[in-house]
Amino acid sequence: MGNNKINRFTRNTTNSRKDRSRKRKHIFYRKSGERNSSNNNTSAKKIKQHDEDLNVPQDDHTVYRLLNFITVFTAISNLVKCKKCNCDVNFQICSERGLGFKIAVMCNECQPTYINSSPFIGHTYEINRRFIYVMRILGLGLEGCKKFCGLMDMPAFLVQKTYDIIVKNMSACVNTVAKKVFVKAAKEEKKTIKRKILGGKGKLTGKLIDKLTVYYGLAIRRNCESIEKMRNAIWATFYHYSSTDQNPQHDHCLSGEESWCKWQKAVANNELNSFKHTYDSLSNDVLQAIRPIYDDLSKDALLDRCIGGFNQNNNESYNQLIWIITRKTLASSSTMVTIAANISACVFNEGCSAHLAMLNSMGITLGQNAHNYCRQADEKRITEAERRAQLATREARILRRQQQSSTLDVAEAAEDLLYGPGIDDSV
Ligand SMILES: [Zn+2]
Ligand SMILES: [Zn+2]
Repeated sequence: MGNNKINRFTRNTTNSRKDRSRKRKHIFYRKSGERNSSNNNTSAKKIKQHDEDLNVPQDDHTVYRLLNFITVFTAISNLVKCKKCNCDVNFQICSERGLGFKIAVMCNECQPTYINSSPFIGHTYEINRRFIYVMRILGLGLEGCKKFCGLMDMPAFLVQKTYDIIVKNMSACVNTVAKKVFVKAAKEEKKTIKRKILGGKGKLTGKLIDKLTVYYGLAIRRNCESIEKMRNAIWATFYHYSSTDQNPQHDHCLSGEESWCKWQKAVANNELNSFKHTYDSLSNDVLQAIRPIYDDLSKDALLDRCIGGFNQNNNESYNQLIWIITRKTLASSSTMVTIAANISACVFNEGCSAHLAMLNSMGITLGQNAHNYCRQADEKRITEAERRAQLATREARILRRQQQSSTLDVAEAAEDLLYGPGIDDSV
């Protein structure tokens, strides 16, 4: 997509300040000889060629650090002098907005020079969008951002109104990328039978995942007194959505006139003869793909922890990925649930690198560290999946269950409480 190109272009044109000149870049990049100067061009070309491939260029100029401003810049001002007048210079923070700010280089003789702490996207600092996105996928909202900034001795984060604007923008961008991923998945589906997860009628779209997630949550919450009931309710949603007029599978659904299941309702009202399914059932491909996830999700060990209502965190399935993003799905706003469902669907399909595409669509440049992280996370995911497949033998399963119910379990549960969906950013 040409998105990145536009953004870089906008950034260059909107930042016509002296301090963003090419010269300055060279001052910061002493090792410019080692840089591949054709890098940006190559990336741009690559993007042009694979327009729909969600490739995100690596920008080697993007490197963030946390630093103690006063210590670092006091030290620097003790070492440097103004190039124009040879006076002492000192550094101050100004134009703060959230995590973004400008460094004012002050000289007694000359006008101050301003350096942006991060690139701009339009009129906003890139770092704020980036931070909000990352906190969001870690399961934290504005309160979480504030807590992080406060305890890290960083300035107060954005106000609700600004935060909401950025979230709205984020939602639109995530939506665009998700659509691309779904289209791509649908195209791939035509090519190979192996990748057959998403897109189109009866397919697994963000919207449907969103729905299934809410149902899963409800199944847990409404039946949190019994594993048996929870499991039944979870499978009910699976079979309910597999049902067609020819092959209704509503045995697990709640019976009676009050049922959420229209088929069961029709049974109770003796109207089954005229009953027609009003929704598209999931295709066999999708059912096949999500069955193992439902198997995982309805395991005793997992449900055991849900007794009493608290949710377990496991990165493996997209449903659980959603839990991490919107721990309290039912309490979250619909925008948040949609964002979560879209991101989860994309990460499930494309791996961690989908985050790069999301951030990139928000106008954010991604550096080497972000690229490396995603590459490693995806590699790890594949290795884990392979390992899991190997451990799928019966003996291994028994062994695993024994291990799970021992001390590991306690440690894991504690970890979940601390780092998992149990984190409550309203606290
Ligand atoms: Zn000067
Ligand atoms: Zn049903």
